[in-house]
Amino acid sequence: MNKIETLEHYFGHSRFRPLQEEVIDAIMAKQDVLMILPTGGGKSLCYQLPTLMMKGVTVVVSPLLALMHDQVVALRANGIPAVMLSSMQDMEESQMIEKQLRSGEVKFLYVAPERLTNGYFLNLLHQLDINFFVIDEAHCVSEWGHEFRENYRRLSLLKEQFATIPIAAFTATATKMVEEDIAANLGLKAPKRVRGSLFRENLTIQAKHRIKDGREQLLAFLKQHEGESGIIYTLSRKSTESVAHFLQNQGLEARAYHAGLSTQEKNSTYQDFVADRVQIVVATIAFGMGIDKSNIRFVVHMTMPKTLENYYQEIGRAGRDGLESETLLLFSASDIVQQKMFIEDLPETPYKEHAFNKLESMVRFANSENCRHQSVAAYFDDRINVCGDKCDNCSAPASQKVDITTAARKLLSAIARTDQKFGLHYVIDILRGSKEQRILQNGHDKLTVYGIGEEYSKSQWLTIGDKLLEIGALSIGEFKVYKLTSFGVEVLKGEHHVSLKESRLSIQKAAPKRKV
Ligand code: ADP
Repeated sequence: MNKIETLEHYFGHSRFRPLQEEVIDAIMAKQDVLMILPTGGGKSLCYQLPTLMMKGVTVVVSPLLALMHDQVVALRANGIPAVMLSSMQDMEESQMIEKQLRSGEVKFLYVAPERLTNGYFLNLLHQLDINFFVIDEAHCVSEWGHEFRENYRRLSLLKEQFATIPIAAFTATATKMVEEDIAANLGLKAPKRVRGSLFRENLTIQAKHRIKDGREQLLAFLKQHEGESGIIYTLSRKSTESVAHFLQNQGLEARAYHAGLSTQEKNSTYQDFVADRVQIVVATIAFGMGIDKSNIRFVVHMTMPKTLENYYQEIGRAGRDGLESETLLLFSASDIVQQKMFIEDLPETPYKEHAFNKLESMVRFANSENCRHQSVAAYFDDRINVCGDKCDNCSAPASQKVDITTAARKLLSAIARTDQKFGLHYVIDILRGSKEQRILQNGHDKLTVYGIGEEYSKSQWLTIGDKLLEIGALSIGEFKVYKLTSFGVEVLKGEHHVSLKESRLSIQKAAPKRKV
């Protein structure tokens, strides 16, 4: 059978997708390969098809048991002999698999990376007729990636021990730096590098400032996706439970998923989701790699992920079937504070500094008024045109901005006059003339800024505070105390204008008049 016949016979497809053939040809020519292609781009076929045209076994290294399991089941369902070796199998089972491998009847052997440190296993590999090695999710090799795995580091031994056997490495996301790291760590020899465009044209990307806990925004979004499958990412285990609860109370089929659940609970939620028995999974990032469901119509982030790599992979789970899908990121300045605290807690390594930079890129993306697709692609060193109408920024009518210079100066002034010792809520209460005990006790009702900010609701003031944080006029110190930066001082003096997308202020309901 030739390539096209194999494609039709085993996979039921009539033509290759862009770049697949290039990689297949390189593999057939025994060349090392490094392929970067977005999720859903069709990477598996790139190593599965050539394997079917070769006589030996292809060894696939994959980071997750569930991922391997699904692949093995799918191959077997197509009549292709595939096995996996993991720590889950007992002696008897392992021996049986070993026998099958030795008999030469197996086409695919899936293994976890830690297997490759096992002397007995390596010895077995040396006795097999190996076509080539596949490294799936190859970004796990790199410490600069977002999912570094210690046992992926050891994969350098493949080239040391099997110098003549080609390696094909695949990942969905890699900056140039991560790409170089993968090539170097695996010791790839003049690999064929194939980079697909990161533009996922069937995804509509939106990023919005979260209003309060974001639940009203979430409901409004879900109204447009009635009965459709989707994932909602939240930051903590607790919040997955509470958001799932909230949605259930709204009559929606939602389930929480996080690492604290039993394997059984996790599996059943996953299975129910895949089989469309559960519409929505509210999850932490534990619900990640290896989700094999093509008709996910939406992905929502209730808070900001810590890196654009995470974000891109997570939204990438939507629309693998190529149909229109929608993503929504809700974020606020408090997310940034939270993520910074997580990073602060990391041990002092070069990675820590890197983590801050990554977070900054994420923040810039969220606040950006440029094409979302172009911004993400640029981050991964891919230049693409603006999407036109596949993101909120491109499809928004010429963005209506309002001048908030006066409001900004009022807020900065109130922070300065309270000696930069208070949190934002307190300062806003002063601006709005609150008669709260603490304000009266501190004598802050005597300040000239007291009560000069009643034109905006509290949440509008919080948005203005967010904006001042984003543009670097304010910074947050210990105990969430707000301080003016040198740029903030200049804004206060009236040296800069500050403007804001009108929608950020107007979508907020005017606060009911406070009882003061
Ligand atoms: P990735 O591993 O890159 O995320 P997959 O290998 O899971 O992507 O492929 C995604 C989907 O695309 C699968 O449903 C697969 O059957 C389909 N697919 C792959 N190649 C082709 C092709 N040449 N023609 C049509 N569909 C394809």
